[in-house]
Amino acid sequence: MRIILFGPPGAGKGTHAQILSRKWQVPHLAAGDLLRSHIRELTEVGKKVKAILERGELVPDVLINELIAVELRKPVARRGFILDGYPRTLGQADALDEFLKGKNENLDVALYFKTSVDVVIDRLTGRRFCPECGANYHIRNIPPKVSGKCDRCGASLVERSDDRPETVRRRLEVYEKDTAPLLNYYQVKGFLEEVPGDFDVDELQAVLAKVLERHGVRESIR
Ligand code: ADP
Repeated sequence: MRIILFGPPGAGKGTHAQILSRKWQVPHLAAGDLLRSHIRELTEVGKKVKAILERGELVPDVLINELIAVELRKPVARRGFILDGYPRTLGQADALDEFLKGKNENLDVALYFKTSVDVVIDRLTGRRFCPECGANYHIRNIPPKVSGKCDRCGASLVERSDDRPETVRRRLEVYEKDTAPLLNYYQVKGFLEEVPGDFDVDELQAVLAKVLERHGVRESIR
């Protein structure tokens, strides 16, 4: 399966990508997680992008295009991938197109998580993540088994620094300006499927299963 997930911050892309990745045994490539791991590990890339993420702006296309291309070239991505938070601009969408063309591959579907502003705000304010392994939680919707601790590795959960209200507002503006145009881009190409981001996790998983089936998505083993 080769799918991309897009929609506003807080639409639930990461949550659903994690579930689909386990179910289909294909890597979940989350652009934001990749960038945060560079920041955590104090790499050169991390130093460059830290302030950008804290302002809620997008990092330059060339930088994220290269990081994602490296992931897509790994053998594990031969079976397919779930791209979450990439592409996020028309320039990135073109770069992904070129990359796939070069490998003679096609996307199966671009899933647009249509989500209302109230839901987005509620989700972002309750979101927690694990600074050690990157797993995501929500204090009400997806609580960890032990309050404040990561189910996977036991580390203490924290809030993302870009989930502060003023940064959330900026991320929503950036989404409208730079990412919303992808709707039309993928519609024209015939890849677009709109799914209800407001639904609960199980309800939306059921919708996703039907959509993927309709698109004939299957494991792509080469
Ligand atoms: P969300 O979808 O909730 O905004 P992400 O974890 O996907 O969260 O992204 C967090 C931040 O990482 C973004 O606000 C942006 O600064 C940066 N980022 C993530 N993906 C991209 C991308 N494809 N292009 C540029 N910047 C990105």
